[in-house]
Amino acid sequence: MPTKVFRVSTSSHTDFVNITAPIREFVRESGIREGICVVYVPHTTAAVFVNEGADPDVVRDIAYKLSSLVEWDDPNYRHAEGNSAAHIKSALIGNSRVIPVVNGDLALGTWEAVFLAEFDGPRSRKVIVTLLGEG
Ligand code: ZN
Repeated sequence: MPTKVFRVSTSSHTDFVNITAPIREFVRESGIREGICVVYVPHTTAAVFVNEGADPDVVRDIAYKLSSLVEWDDPNYRHAEGNSAAHIKSALIGNSRVIPVVNGDLALGTWEAVFLAEFDGPRSRKVIVTLLGEG
């Protein structure tokens, strides 16, 4: 079962990084034709999601609205590290996604892309991609 760990550097406090291309390349290299691709982010203040990659304003709007829904400062937060908002956003979005592999490629829609969501950056993040299927 092929697994690869990618390193992704984020460049701002909130940052959505399109990680579709290296995952697609990994799927191609694996020789797997039909199966599933599991994308997992082992971090408590980051997440992974699939959404529109064509218009960068879409992820900008997602970041904007998440930040207005989950305020950075809230007197009722108790977590001493001071980054509760990042943990909450990570929990809301989720730290894994499953994408079908069809004909040796990710079966993403035309406008879809896979994003690493950074909520407490900039940092170096890991993305673990596991493929399950047959050639
Ligand atoms: Zn924390």
